[in-house]
Amino acid sequence: MTEEILRTLCELPGPTGQEDAVLDWVENEWAGRGEVSRTRVGNLLLHLPGPGPRVLIAAHADELSLIVRSVTPDGFLRVLPGERDTFTLPYFPGSPLRVLAEGGAVSGMFATTTGHALTPEQRERTKLTWDDVFVDVGMTADEVAAAGIRVGTRMVWDTGVRRVGRLLVGKAMDDRLGVAVLVALARRLDVAKLRFDVTLALTVQEEIGMVGVASIVREGRDFDIGFVVDNGLAGDIPTVSHGHVPVRLGGGPTLVHRDSSAHYSRRLIQELRATAAEIGVPVQDMVLYHYTSDAAHLIRQGMETLLVAPPIRYSHSPFEAVDPADVESTVRLFDAYLTRGAEA
Ligand SMILES: [Zn+2]
Repeated sequence: MTEEILRTLCELPGPTGQEDAVLDWVENEWAGRGEVSRTRVGNLLLHLPGPGPRVLIAAHADELSLIVRSVTPDGFLRVLPGERDTFTLPYFPGSPLRVLAEGGAVSGMFATTTGHALTPEQRERTKLTWDDVFVDVGMTADEVAAAGIRVGTRMVWDTGVRRVGRLLVGKAMDDRLGVAVLVALARRLDVAKLRFDVTLALTVQEEIGMVGVASIVREGRDFDIGFVVDNGLAGDIPTVSHGHVPVRLGGGPTLVHRDSSAHYSRRLIQELRATAAEIGVPVQDMVLYHYTSDAAHLIRQGMETLLVAPPIRYSHSPFEAVDPADVESTVRLFDAYLTRGAEA
């Protein structure tokens, strides 16, 4: 079930600042399950009333994207990233793109000079800059305008989700895997058994600097405990050492002790670890360095906070890979934690 939800969510376009397709799908999914609302900045909340402390579980709806900064006289699109990331080449020349034009989505490809057309100077270059790349939609400037592509038009990778062995591979696993956990959890939770007052939240604009989450409390909602579900890192590939990232796909969600922004609740780590042991779900410990998420913002807003991160290979690429078993384990872990440890 979770795999099917994850597939559907990954294939929806949700660039930062334009997460509507993801929010609409989940809003429809949540209708009738509890009190559904959207905040002024666009975060989507599902409130499941219950006794005890107020718990927030959040995942971000947005994904990596490109945004048009100009259209050349020949109809090529000059672009910038929609996220805060500098150009570490998460975008690979040749990648298919889905341009979210006003007149309907249009196919494009991320391009640069290649092969025979390279000048001697370009041949010596080892690193591309934003000035070396563009998007080709195979149209003249007039056709581009007629299609409704303009400065500010966003685009996402146009890659479907596919099975590779036990892996599920595609764009936007960061953080649709977190969104899938919340959707599956809402379906699975027996609200009569809740031992907390639970709110599930999809946040917007995480990738540009944790923007949507920053106002969740300011808009009049308060919570005692906060969890963020975002992708963790897996170090089980040949080019990453176990010494750096001792986490493997299929080993269960990671409980994050610290990342670049904060240290997380040792009490919540112990509680989740005990719950996991009770129900036989594997968990892993993670210490992150070059990594930020919405989680530190929950601490700043007064919540005792933990980042729960199912591992992912090849983060911030169009071939982000997960083991669906880790997503399922995360759902079971939260279900048990929120409902007195009662296993369904
Ligand atoms: Zn993320």
